[in-house]
Amino acid sequence: MTSLTLADILAARKRIAGIATLDTPLPPSPCLSAIAGDDVLLKLEIGQATGAFKLRGAANAVLSLPESTKGVTCCSTGNHGRAVAYAARARGFRAVICMSSLVPEAKLAGIRALGAEARIIGKSQDEAQVESRHLAEEEGFHEISPFDDLHVIAGQGTIGLELLEQRPDLETVLIPLSGGGLAGGIAFALKTIKPSIRVVGITMEHGAAMHASLAAGKPVAVTEMASLADSLGGGIGLENRHSFALCRDFLDEVILVSEEEIYRAMQMHYHEDRLVCEGASAVGAAALLSGRLGRHPGPTATLITGRNVDMQVFTDIVSGRAVQLGDTTLKGHIHAA
Ligand SMILES: *Cc1c(COP(=O)(O)O)cnc(C)c1O
Repeated sequence: MTSLTLADILAARKRIAGIATLDTPLPPSPCLSAIAGDDVLLKLEIGQATGAFKLRGAANAVLSLPESTKGVTCCSTGNHGRAVAYAARARGFRAVICMSSLVPEAKLAGIRALGAEARIIGKSQDEAQVESRHLAEEEGFHEISPFDDLHVIAGQGTIGLELLEQRPDLETVLIPLSGGGLAGGIAFALKTIKPSIRVVGITMEHGAAMHASLAAGKPVAVTEMASLADSLGGGIGLENRHSFALCRDFLDEVILVSEEEIYRAMQMHYHEDRLVCEGASAVGAAALLSGRLGRHPGPTATLITGRNVDMQVFTDIVSGRAVQLGDTTLKGHIHAA
């Protein structure tokens, strides 16, 4: 059993109020509502100062550290690194962010602009993780896991409190899933307050480590692949302590979506909702558009987790042009209302 409590999440909400934006909007999506046959609402985390929800968890972790902290480090697919850099700057701590070469340039620039040191190591999150662990051991930096840290998980869980305050009648919540800190924290809060709610993790079909681990009954490694949902890449750690058990115990199911479905969902969010969001944010819409979630899920919220998308890729997608993903080419597709 996890030691996470609702009190931890309530404490996180108080602690992060000065740094993260709380009570982010939850507007309806008329297009997705028509497809689902019930209200579909968008939880807009793209308004965070760093462009993604990860500021909630990172702020809670950094603000919980003693003043004597030498520095902080983490490995990241980009958004956690930017959030740690932002929170560290607010406290005057040094920050070193370790990333793989799969991280898009836009995310790298965002981190460096905050005054943090960004190190690119290898081609996978796991290699970046080794470097941040090394820094922690050699230089006495405090390492903040992007998903397997109770302060981070409690920070992300604050979104769950807000969802039920904003719409107590919610019946389904769609959560983009990678390491599971977001889904674990939110699902724990939602199920503790409203046990009847359906909580669905959504992720890309290739290289989804949490999905493979849940199927295997224990953390397993997967090969990382290029994805439009680049923020959902990376393993969950074979020594996972918290997020695996939370996802296993509190998620009702996990739905996988294809790259084509993510492409169409990003296009739809732009043309119909007027949203600039990254691929990881669009997986909930992809599950609805593809029919994988099914119709009539009841009042539903999907998390728009971040907006830190490479602008060239984004303009290609919303213009219906083909996109190169690693060795494969995603065919163009024109959005039709
Ligand atoms: C990190 C991230 C996720 C997934 O969060 P996990 O806690 O790793 O499951 C989803 N969307 C965006 C934009 C992210 O940066």
